[in-house]
Amino acid sequence: MGFTHTNKFLSRLSIQNKLIVINLSVTSVALLFAVIMAVAGEYISKRDFIMGSLEVQTKMVGRNTTAALVFNDRDGAEKVLQAFSASPNVLTAIIYNEAGDIFASYIKDDNTVDAKAAGKLDVFDGTKITKAHQHQGSTVLDDKIHITQTINFEDRPIGSLFLQADISNLYDDILNYLVYTASVALLGLAIATLLLLQLRKSITYPLKKLTELMISVTKDNDYSIRVDNTNDDEIGVLSQGFNKMLAHIQSNDEKLAHELSERYRAEEHLDKLAYYDVTTNLPNRHSFHKQLDDAVERAITTKQKMVLLFLDLDNFKTVNDTAGHATGDLLLKQASSRLSNVLRQNDYIYRIGGDEFAIIIENMNDINAVSIITNKCIESLSNPFIFDGKNFFIGVSIGISICPDDAITADELLIKADMAMYEAKIRGKNSFQYFDQEMNELHSHKYQLESDLRHAIKEDHMELYYQPQVNPADGSLTGVEALMRWNHPEKGIILPNDFIPIAEETGLILPLGKWLIDTACQQGKQLIESGLHDITIAINISAVQIREHTFIDNITCALKASGLKPESLEIELTESVLMNDSELVVQKISQLRALGIHIAIDDFGTGFSSMNYLKSFPVSKLKIDRSFISGLPTGTEDAAIVQAIIVMAHGLNISVIAEGVERKDQVEILCDYNCDTFQGYYYAKPMKFSDILDLNYPKKSTNN
Ligand code: C2E
Ligand code: CA
Ligand code: CA
Repeated sequence: MGFTHTNKFLSRLSIQNKLIVINLSVTSVALLFAVIMAVAGEYISKRDFIMGSLEVQTKMVGRNTTAALVFNDRDGAEKVLQAFSASPNVLTAIIYNEAGDIFASYIKDDNTVDAKAAGKLDVFDGTKITKAHQHQGSTVLDDKIHITQTINFEDRPIGSLFLQADISNLYDDILNYLVYTASVALLGLAIATLLLLQLRKSITYPLKKLTELMISVTKDNDYSIRVDNTNDDEIGVLSQGFNKMLAHIQSNDEKLAHELSERYRAEEHLDKLAYYDVTTNLPNRHSFHKQLDDAVERAITTKQKMVLLFLDLDNFKTVNDTAGHATGDLLLKQASSRLSNVLRQNDYIYRIGGDEFAIIIENMNDINAVSIITNKCIESLSNPFIFDGKNFFIGVSIGISICPDDAITADELLIKADMAMYEAKIRGKNSFQYFDQEMNELHSHKYQLESDLRHAIKEDHMELYYQPQVNPADGSLTGVEALMRWNHPEKGIILPNDFIPIAEETGLILPLGKWLIDTACQQGKQLIESGLHDITIAINISAVQIREHTFIDNITCALKASGLKPESLEIELTESVLMNDSELVVQKISQLRALGIHIAIDDFGTGFSSMNYLKSFPVSKLKIDRSFISGLPTGTEDAAIVQAIIVMAHGLNISVIAEGVERKDQVEILCDYNCDTFQGYYYAKPMKFSDILDLNYPKKSTNN
């Protein structure tokens, strides 16, 4: 308990005060002990000295009174006892005879004890005297010493001497001595304390320095400070350890700061990559979406109009394809800087795709000014871009949507600007178009159809119908045209004119076309095997399909898989397909012809109708367009055209088929013109595959 209190008390003190308290207590205890030891020693030695001299006197007096006792000479004994008067301490001296009675006595005159002396003497009579005889010796009682000395004669006790001495002056001496030693001790303590106060600095000063340094390090986070102490003692070691620790922290701190700045730079770089387009240095799609969200929110809260321009470069792909991507990138860079230059300070431009840009114009309450800006954009790109001395011309199609007139969300605004841009492209490139509601309906219809069509291909909702092609001479079947049908689960059968354009636009025509080729080959083979050995299976191929690089492979694979002979397959291409990209198409047609596949020109007469190109394409059949046939026989002009086509085709060794034949009179006049084959409702409508298998066309026996 005592210790814990002391520890608690000490723990509250500073080291300086602790040292003082500890030293003072230790020194005080030591000095106290020394004083006690000195005083006790002094007392004992003084007392023993007095006792010793009294004993000697007692012995001498006892010896001197032997004769008086032997001769019963009381006066002589008393005279001897008077010798004690020279000894200031002796109060009483009594000689007892053998019987124990008082024989002679000396009592100091001024002793107040005198009065009681007689009484005192009584104490020493009777048995006690006998005892005194037996127990000679000295005792100390309070401030009195009692000495009893046996008096012998011829080795036989004949009496005894009792002495009472006062030693109270001894205590006075001792008290004086105590005062003296205590003063000396206190003086010693004072000197020791002064010395301590001086010496403790050697410990407390470095500690104080260390503490101050530690406080300033923690306060200022400055780890470059060091303790100046190279001593070999514990504090020196502590200081050096502290310095080492600080050096370690400082180097770690510097490393950390370096690492942090590196990381900050990396983050900044990543941030730039994340929000900026490296080619044009414009903010990218990511930042565009963020900014658009904010701009829409501002437009709504401030009730100011916000305009979104969606820009798509025209003919950029051609530049990329012909001059390479590096030139394409350069062009994008220059185009974006030209566009940026025509914008006002608070309008922002973003690159949001390959050749797509977006411009956000806020606080645009004068909508007419939008046309001015878009015209400036178009104008800025109208001059050619020159790379390696070559001129490159591009244009831009711009779609415009306005918040809140057209939409009040960023996503919707973007879709509508995109739709308007698309419309601008359709209506003739290098122009701009505002979004309108009609556009929206058309788009949403298209969008719905597109997603349904994707679904239909997967779910096998597509079907091929077949329309017979007939030899008018004997009514025999010369071929069938495969026509696609979409069995829509809700809308019923959808005709190709309603979905083929969307399929072409979205690229869905490719999977669809592949399915068509596979199915037509496989079902065609079945038809032939049913006994219709000489027929051809005609399929319609669009421009997108023929350009696809896997087109020829798809055909050969389908032929191989089905076992259909190439000669039994006929591919119908429209004039427009032949005219566009003729070089590539000529190459593909030649490959198809080399395989033995027939080529027919569909809707002949509606396109360029140039007889010239027929010579350059290895075509085997012309399909006169329905529009001419429907004019027969009344429209003399149509009749003349049809007749001319047939004559000319035959002259080039190309056979002719009339499509859309609906009436007998049409058949008759076409027969007069020597038209080779007929297709139309007059003979049969397009029908399901199973139905055409069931039809009883005259079957010829196989000749191969
Ligand atoms: P097209 O190649 O000119 O096909 C002939 C179209 O005329 C067919 O319409 C056919 O049903 C219709 N037709 C045939 N005879 C008569 C007639 O006597 N009177 C009338 N009024 N019409 C007749 P359909 O099946 O609706 O096909 C329309 C167009 O869709 C086709 O025109 C063709 O260009 C395209 N098409 C059809 N199937 C496919 C296909 O599988 N792939 C591709 N790329 N296009 C296809
Ligand atoms: Ca056709
Ligand atoms: Ca046709």
